[in-house]
Amino acid sequence: KVKHRGGNGYDFYSGLLNVGSVKKLSLEAELRHAMKREEFQVYYQPQVSLKTGKIIGCEALLRWKHPSKGFISPGVFLPLAEEVGLIEPIGEGVLEQACQDAKKLHQAGFESLRVAVNLSSRQFNQLNFRQRVIDILAHTKIRPQNLELELTESSLIQDPIIAKKRLEGFKSLGISISIDDFGTGYSSLKYLQQFPFDILKIDQCFVRDIDRNLNNAAITTAIVQMSHSLSFKVVGEGVETEAELRILKEQQCDAIQGYLFSPPLPFNKFEALLKSRKVLFSDRDRANQNIQ
Ligand code: C2E
Ligand code: MG
Ligand code: MG
Ligand code: MG
Repeated sequence: KVKHRGGNGYDFYSGLLNVGSVKKLSLEAELRHAMKREEFQVYYQPQVSLKTGKIIGCEALLRWKHPSKGFISPGVFLPLAEEVGLIEPIGEGVLEQACQDAKKLHQAGFESLRVAVNLSSRQFNQLNFRQRVIDILAHTKIRPQNLELELTESSLIQDPIIAKKRLEGFKSLGISISIDDFGTGYSSLKYLQQFPFDILKIDQCFVRDIDRNLNNAAITTAIVQMSHSLSFKVVGEGVETEAELRILKEQQCDAIQGYLFSPPLPFNKFEALLKSRKVLFSDRDRANQNIQ
């Protein structure tokens, strides 16, 4: 509430509230509205195997279509949702929707398609979260083998012992765990070998220009080799060019995601892409590569 001091119209609080916090307040109110008005939508970005060139899975990515401001980036509204305690219901909505959509795709003949869902730190640390996952798997009837949960290093390092227990709790359900944005957080190599990860996702900042940036190329080579030694699969994130793709393939990276193949798509478009049987490279390319 804005108060006025004296008759000069001096806004007493304006010195305390910076523009950022005013914006935040209105964004928070709008976030609450958005949930009611169903302005959120889950998009899917395909993940493609570098062995076959075919789509093997997808990552669910949340979109907020604001009625007047247009698309607002999850990088903007998710940290706020986390701060004001809305991330749990929002995140659970994404998980539920992603599992429902995956079920439709499984029924349409893509039985082995996996869906990866991002988890915020708060969600991961929620006490009843494992039970919520069990409930969602039960009523959407998707197999746990088809679900993957993506976590970032920051969710795990606060309390590594508890994090490890939680991860094992998910693993015991048959769900896969991936470590997202690898290399950008603070996790130590000690945890890498202790946590039961299945997949490691190389952050796009290391993938960028690996055909020309030798430091990045050295980092991705090392990450792929280390991951394979620890029996993790590796996904390269944010692949934008043929040259980046070629290097990741040479480095034996297992799969990629990126604008080169497809941006995140609304469900109907993702389904259409699956049905089109689009491939990242053809068998002929592979045959040629094997000859070399
Ligand atoms: P992320 O999980 O690392 O997701 C990958 C981000 O890279 C996505 O951004 C995706 O659109 C973008 N991307 C994919 N391919 C390319 C490419 O070739 N080039 C470039 N420049 N970018 C590419 P997006 O969708 O804006 O999401 C940003 C972050 O927000 C995600 O990073 C994730 O941390 C978070 N996020 C998104 N949806 C959810 C959600 O449902 N729950 C939670 N907790 N976090 C989410
Ligand atoms: Mg992710
Ligand atoms: Mg990522
Ligand atoms: Mg990211």
